[in-house]
Amino acid sequence: MHTQTTTSNSGTKTTIPQKFVYFFAAGDSEGNAGMKNILGGKGANLAEMTSLGIPVPPGFTISTEICAHFYEAGGKLPEWVRPSVLEAMKKVEGKIGKKFGDISNPLLVSVRSGARASMPGMMDTILNLGLNDQTVEGLAKSSNNPRFAWDSYRRFIQMYSDVVMGMNSSLLEVTLEDLKDEKKYKLDTDLTVDDLKHLVKKFKDLVQQMTGRTFPNDAYEQLWGAISAVFHSWNTPRAITYRELHNIPAAWGTAVNIQSMVFGNMGDDSATGVAFTRDPSTGEKAFYGEFLINAQGEDVVAGIRTPQPITKVAAAKAGVPSLEEAMPEAYGQLVTIYKKLEGHYRDMQDIEFTIEKNKLWMLQTRNGKRTAKAALKIACDMIDEKLITEDEAILRLDPSSLDQLLHPTLDPKAQKTVLAKGLPASPGGVHGQIVFTPEDAVEWKDLGKKVILVRIETSPEDIAGMIAAQGIFTTRGGMTSHAAVVARGMGKCCVAGCGEVEVDYNQQTMKVKGYVLKKGDVITLDGGTGEVFLGEVKTIEPKLDSDFERIMKIADKVRKLKVRTNADTPKDAQTARNFGAEGIGLCRTEHMFFGADRIDAVREMILAESKQEREKALAKLLPMQRTDFQELFKIMDGLPVTIRLLDPPLHEFVPHTEKEIQELAGRIKYDVDKLRSKVKSLHEFNPMLGHRGCRLAITYPEIYQMQVRAIAEAASEIVKTGKKLVPEIMIPLIATDKELELLRSLTVVEVEKVQKEQNVKFDYLVGTMIELPRAAVTADAIADHADFFSFGTNDLTQTALGLSRDDAGRFLGSYVSSGIFARDPFVTIDKVGVGSLVRTATEMGRRSKPGLKVGVCGEHGGDPDSIEFFNSVGLDYVSCSPFRVPIARLAAARAALLGKKLH
Ligand code: PEP
Ligand code: MG
Repeated sequence: MHTQTTTSNSGTKTTIPQKFVYFFAAGDSEGNAGMKNILGGKGANLAEMTSLGIPVPPGFTISTEICAHFYEAGGKLPEWVRPSVLEAMKKVEGKIGKKFGDISNPLLVSVRSGARASMPGMMDTILNLGLNDQTVEGLAKSSNNPRFAWDSYRRFIQMYSDVVMGMNSSLLEVTLEDLKDEKKYKLDTDLTVDDLKHLVKKFKDLVQQMTGRTFPNDAYEQLWGAISAVFHSWNTPRAITYRELHNIPAAWGTAVNIQSMVFGNMGDDSATGVAFTRDPSTGEKAFYGEFLINAQGEDVVAGIRTPQPITKVAAAKAGVPSLEEAMPEAYGQLVTIYKKLEGHYRDMQDIEFTIEKNKLWMLQTRNGKRTAKAALKIACDMIDEKLITEDEAILRLDPSSLDQLLHPTLDPKAQKTVLAKGLPASPGGVHGQIVFTPEDAVEWKDLGKKVILVRIETSPEDIAGMIAAQGIFTTRGGMTSHAAVVARGMGKCCVAGCGEVEVDYNQQTMKVKGYVLKKGDVITLDGGTGEVFLGEVKTIEPKLDSDFERIMKIADKVRKLKVRTNADTPKDAQTARNFGAEGIGLCRTEHMFFGADRIDAVREMILAESKQEREKALAKLLPMQRTDFQELFKIMDGLPVTIRLLDPPLHEFVPHTEKEIQELAGRIKYDVDKLRSKVKSLHEFNPMLGHRGCRLAITYPEIYQMQVRAIAEAASEIVKTGKKLVPEIMIPLIATDKELELLRSLTVVEVEKVQKEQNVKFDYLVGTMIELPRAAVTADAIADHADFFSFGTNDLTQTALGLSRDDAGRFLGSYVSSGIFARDPFVTIDKVGVGSLVRTATEMGRRSKPGLKVGVCGEHGGDPDSIEFFNSVGLDYVSCSPFRVPIARLAAARAALLGKKLH
């Protein structure tokens, strides 16, 4: 690309992109859908629509690259941006036949954000820009509709003063409401031209008073202010929170779209709406949308008026007129266009439109956000419709979103008291204590409480509260309102537009059917039906439908990585098998030691002063461990089961408070003083790097001997019944090949002893965890003694980064927000650092022992991004908690397909 350089205010040299303003109009667009990175989603799709012959008001996009220049220049629009913008504006004027700032026939524009990934409602928008004391008269004449002109002007002042001048918008809102009260009006549309003129004057006075600045009358001054405000909105706290939640890099920046206005508020032959080409909640193949007559786009999304359904069928259910009936011609065009768009993008679209005097205009199309349930249904239907291939279906699905489907729903048989019914905006069944502000939601969540955020309507300011809440409830707004769209995107239960409930922010109450609920009272939401219940309603485990099963089958065909589970109890093992786990990748045996029936025997073993005493205590544990393993082997029915020998430091098993020490001494008949001093002696300053893992067995080999015996005896029982089983015994926290050599031989001796005693033979594997950097970089020597490796990436992350996995949470947030880490390294593997240890160890291990089986059992084994990395390294399997098994199956399939694309 040709570039030129300039020197910025701060004196640094800036490289100016040769082109950064892209025009769009019917048959004359410079962009297309493939240019999302520089035009943002909105700009790229507006350009694409014009090429498809779809009516789009002309305009232009300032590229996302300028966002970085804006911040580099200290939050100011660089001077060199202006000439290209002015030139593009001239071109828009030419297309429309109106001039920006012209007194008799003014061109008005909208100024909107649009990033590469959609961030609904998180950034700013300004409509009706270009109106001033003179152009408003011109608009009144040219439209022959003074009321419309003055209403647009008062809206513009409200929006601009809020977004660009930083004024609290509620002040103007209150002024408007006061006037309506005084005149006894019900609706905004009751305001007369004189009322609106009066409001405009009043608003401007208030702006002057509150901001100390005069509301700009010059159209271009308005324009530069609006462009800057949109770039600024990329870095508002709410946008940052949203980006963090959805892993959107700060460096992407937003584009700015400047587009000639069309008006849905020109009277009863005008309207505005948003629609989805399929139902975003269920995935059903039905055109689905909402509209408002005589309104502007923001009225629909903001949820200020509850909009009406577009189709006759949906409207009949709600008992209100539809767009299909009210404006049949425009509706017909809309249907043709939505079908064309869905066919073109081969995905469900979320569209925005405006009808100006019966003429339809499209203002946006994008792939629609949807619930996980809808995503699966749409993917399956589109495969059947031959719109997409099976591989494309897999690539489109977000593995993490499956989590939504695995959550409980309300028990249909439970006793319930229905309070009200709103719109089923986002599914799930949740209960919590009601709070009325996002601040309370965050505060109570931090105190460990479950909360439901109750709002009249939500706005982007509420985002932190929405994240903190179990579920969201609103009394206004439709299925496309802010609350509904954002909740759906988060996979959070939401009931919206529940008009029969009266919410009073001042009193902090919600009233319905004679009930008055206060802050802290419990309600339950059913996001699938829209019902709200008093108190807590029982939930049941989810049932997975046929679309889910079908997608999982496709994923299983495609993926290379096997998916196992981390499970220590029969219940977990069974859940994981039901979710398709192909074995156990990690059974943490220490969890089995905490049972009430055995913890005291474990403590006796720890307190033993001689080998004999220790063996006596271990003998008590042996039968219990044997049963534990037998149960797991039975459930896994021939699938591989990896059992890790004892790992944590022993002090974790002994009591710490004086009261507990006294009680234990009494129970096991042990001298209290001796017990107290023994507990003290077990104390370590840094237990994570202390006497744990295989180091326990170097000092107390009897512990591992007992565990190996229990495994071998349990396996013998199974093998005697004629079943096949290959137990995998895993030694943790190995640093050197010598440790493994020693403990492998201990294991082999014990297994063979049992085989002889039981007179059975079975295959078994002895492997190790790779959890320490030294083990990773000497993996060739370690592989000499290992039948398999399993990366314990929790400890490997801790030890490679020198970051305590228990304490780092306190400051890791700052590392992520300041960009030092792109993600929390305990959640998503640090590919460059820890990842290269994984890669190196795998390569070294397999060089020394070709075909060495390698897996991962740290938390990263269930994280889709990490799975993509493990696939690229060529691991054999990942192992994760039972509820993440389906997520890992889908993520592994995506990883395989993405890997194929790269090669
Ligand atoms: C690990 O360290 O990644 C691991 C799986 O072991 P644990 O979490 O039990 O230390
Ligand atoms: Mg570990």
